[in-house]
Amino acid sequence: MSLVQFVEQTLGTDNAHRYINQLLETVQERNPSEVEFHQAVREVLISLIPVLSQKPKYMEHAVLDRLVEPDRLISFRVPWTDDTGKIRVNRGYRVQFSNAIGPYKGGLRFHPSVNASIIKFLGFEQIFKNALTGQSIGGGKGGADFDPRGKSDLEIMRFCQSFMTELSKHIGPDTDVPAGDIGVGAREIGYMFGQYKKLVGAYEAGVLTGKGIGYGGSLGRKEATGYGAVYFVEEMLKSAGLGFNGSTVVVSGSGNVSIYAMEKAMQLGAKVVACSDSSGYIYHQAGINLDTIKRLKEVEYRRCQDYVLEHPDAVYVEGCSGIWTIACDIALPCATQNEINKLSAELLVRNGVKAVGEGANMPSTLEAIDVFLDNNVLFAPAKAANAGGVSVSALEMAQNSARLAWTMEEVDLKLQQIMHNIYSESLKASQDYGVPGNLVVGANIAGFVKVADAMIAQGV
Ligand code: NDP
Repeated sequence: MSLVQFVEQTLGTDNAHRYINQLLETVQERNPSEVEFHQAVREVLISLIPVLSQKPKYMEHAVLDRLVEPDRLISFRVPWTDDTGKIRVNRGYRVQFSNAIGPYKGGLRFHPSVNASIIKFLGFEQIFKNALTGQSIGGGKGGADFDPRGKSDLEIMRFCQSFMTELSKHIGPDTDVPAGDIGVGAREIGYMFGQYKKLVGAYEAGVLTGKGIGYGGSLGRKEATGYGAVYFVEEMLKSAGLGFNGSTVVVSGSGNVSIYAMEKAMQLGAKVVACSDSSGYIYHQAGINLDTIKRLKEVEYRRCQDYVLEHPDAVYVEGCSGIWTIACDIALPCATQNEINKLSAELLVRNGVKAVGEGANMPSTLEAIDVFLDNNVLFAPAKAANAGGVSVSALEMAQNSARLAWTMEEVDLKLQQIMHNIYSESLKASQDYGVPGNLVVGANIAGFVKVADAMIAQGV
């Protein structure tokens, strides 16, 4: 059942629908022009109508009125000096949305598109995703409108140090624990950790996750989001008698999530034929050579375009949305928000896609999700499918607290178990609340209930 049909079915049934409509209006009035935030709130709120109808206590305690307002949004100046000696200024953010079930937790994004709306949509979604993992972590997010592309290593270091000089006042191992996201990988986390350590004068390993293995990082964190998304999709495929083995897969992006989603899909027997960056995509009918992509992206910081220099039978096409015109069994959007619109979704369906797994955050528009659900495409929403990254971040925090390190096998087994649990809980919630198999609704409800019950227990 699509989200539109779902809303129509619940229309006028009770106070819950009226309450949600009013709340959505309030959110729009209070946060004018924050379109990404409105979109994320809308998707979550609509899907919670059945739980509010059955359990009006959540409305009586104004749980959602409280959740749509972050505990705080911090915005700050980040001055730094480029290699020519010129002083540059960017804007940094940290949103601390909810610490009802644990310290704020969520990544940092460095990308020119970053603004309050993007950070708030990501932080809001993080509340429910983190609850869904079953670990004690609240929701937060941060970043800056800094563009790491084309910057030298020293410029990146100076930026990270300046960013952390302010951020350090607001975070801590029991307060708020940032990690990576778009534009922030192990290198940036390393520079920020170095600066934090210097500022506080203590080795608080648990203040950041995604650290290098040699100084408190967890084995398997780098792989966790991509692997976790594939584990989740494999569970979903299994329920329909399908699997990755023998399938053709398209994965957008060529960053952290994308690379490890490709790796796990290949390990499970799939052929990945395309991936992309923000400039364009490559189509390699024989199957993407992941060693080349890893070297180009993780070591040499180069563009996808250069792949065809080494693989002349592959094709490079400018512009990234064209990647969804490629026929595939499974599509894994792993680049950025709203990269699949209604038209791209219709093309994927026409070309026979059987399953879509969101590795990125909110990569499908609400209209695109409806196209998938209306056409019985198996759909794994981001909140559930990409929760593997934050799950292993929480495992990194646990290892830091206990001052020990687990093996890759131990972490990977725990990740598989967590993804299995997230799938089962989301499926069960979708069944319990009358939309069997709709994992968008199921994941939102399963995450929400944990946070809402904790908020009620802790009072206003
Ligand atoms: P990376 O920076 O490692 O990679 C991002 C990839 O997406 C790059 O290939 C980048 O291309 C491409 N991209 C970025 N912006 C755009 C855009 N506007 N249009 C087209 N392509 C774009 O980031 P991650 O892999 O870490 O993150 C990808 C997604 O996954 C994000 O939505 C993030 O929020 C989500 N996510 C990440 C987690 C993690 O653990 N890292 C955890 C959960 C979710 P280019 O190099 O040209 O910029």
